[in-house]
Amino acid sequence: MDTDEFRRLGHALIDRIADYWDGIEDRPVRSRAKPGDIVAALPAEAPETGEGFDRILADFDRILDPGLTNWAHPRFFAYFPANISPPAVLGEVLAAGLGQQAMLWETSPAANELEAVTMAWLGKAIGLPDAFKGTIQDSASTATLCALLAAREKALQWSGNTDGLSDKPALTVYASAEAHSSIDKAARIAGYGDIGLRRVATDADFRMKPDALDEMMTLDRAEGRLPAAVVASVGATGIGAVDPVREVAAIAARHGVYLHVDAAWAGSALVCPEFRALGDGIELADSLVFNPHKWMGVNFDCSAHFVKDPQVLRKALSILPAYLVSDGSGAGPEYRDWTIPLGRRFRALKLWFALRSYGMEAIRDMIRRHVAWAEELEGLIAAEPGFALAAPRSLALVAFRLTPEGRDGAALDTLNDRLIATVNETGFTYLTRTLVDGRVAVRVSVGNLLTERRHVLEAWDHIRDVAKSLV
Ligand SMILES: *Cc1c(COP(=O)(O)O)cnc(C)c1O
Repeated sequence: MDTDEFRRLGHALIDRIADYWDGIEDRPVRSRAKPGDIVAALPAEAPETGEGFDRILADFDRILDPGLTNWAHPRFFAYFPANISPPAVLGEVLAAGLGQQAMLWETSPAANELEAVTMAWLGKAIGLPDAFKGTIQDSASTATLCALLAAREKALQWSGNTDGLSDKPALTVYASAEAHSSIDKAARIAGYGDIGLRRVATDADFRMKPDALDEMMTLDRAEGRLPAAVVASVGATGIGAVDPVREVAAIAARHGVYLHVDAAWAGSALVCPEFRALGDGIELADSLVFNPHKWMGVNFDCSAHFVKDPQVLRKALSILPAYLVSDGSGAGPEYRDWTIPLGRRFRALKLWFALRSYGMEAIRDMIRRHVAWAEELEGLIAAEPGFALAAPRSLALVAFRLTPEGRDGAALDTLNDRLIATVNETGFTYLTRTLVDGRVAVRVSVGNLLTERRHVLEAWDHIRDVAKSLV
């Protein structure tokens, strides 16, 4: 493909993306594809000779388009949002075209320094002190893994990397049962194991109990285990539980244990002064992650990982082979030392485009609108006979149950699972299941850039209609 053809196709592709957004409301939210449809429609081997782009795009329309689940759809209320926005998409395209590798300062001074600047902007925007330095990870899962590796090495006085873990005391990490599964995965990869992931009891509001944390760490230490990390959640995935970070931090500090805060979703809301209280005490953490790719209009992947002392992370992750020694070493941040992969994308560009194009005030307004509509929905659910809230609303996340008279326990679980499955099959809106106190509940997570108040109300009407057909 020469640059003339690239120009022509590129312009058409941008038109195609704009058309997709303009027409997205007419699509089903969740793909109606059946398992194997797409594999069956594609050849088993790559073509030997090149094909024209018109043919490739025709196959895209015919085969792949029906297999799209439309995450940008204004009635997408499943999981947490994974937003896209026009300026961030342009940043993504430009970054792809420039092909920067941000592993060392000298392999892209622009990418590295813009990353430092945009992370400083975000840190300030969510109320972290200047001492925190940030890097952009691909995902919160990676940030949390890096945090557990740093915590492990700090607890082992940096001997795990050199000696391995076989002769070491059993490492432990503490989190509540509400914590995201990325903590379980990080505990496995970082050598704590499932057995080393200790579940701290929660109170009636699903918040980690600091006293219970204190007791568990004391007992573990007395029994020869080595407490290394605490992961506090600010907005956990199931129902948005928020641990009391300030009190948890005091206990972690008393035990000399590393504190990581997982604010993957709710962290974006800390840009609004009225929601800051949710993150009370985050400045006491050793690290924090939140995902601008969830609730700030920046395309996946863009995970903001802040650390109070970069040296701890670097000591855990830095390896300097001869081929990576460069003039820049020691001068600017060498982000290869802050993460797992060596190669790093120019992710700061889409973030910079989005933050500058919208400005923080527009981002705050968007988050406020989402929270206000979720609050309105919460009121409607509470007032609706045969429905009940399953947990208190957390920001823009509402969890509820269909609760017709005469059904309880397993029968109610089955009914709510059927409600979710039936709604999702219609394609009109898209919801996710969770468990609250071990029982099935329905999550509605408001957070898409294209969502308006009417979409939330339409989805609620639809849910009620489907519910009527089931009871
Ligand atoms: C989404 C989410 C994660 C995982 O995020 P990735 O960036 O997809 O790894 C972790 N923790 C919480 C609380 C989340 O909401």
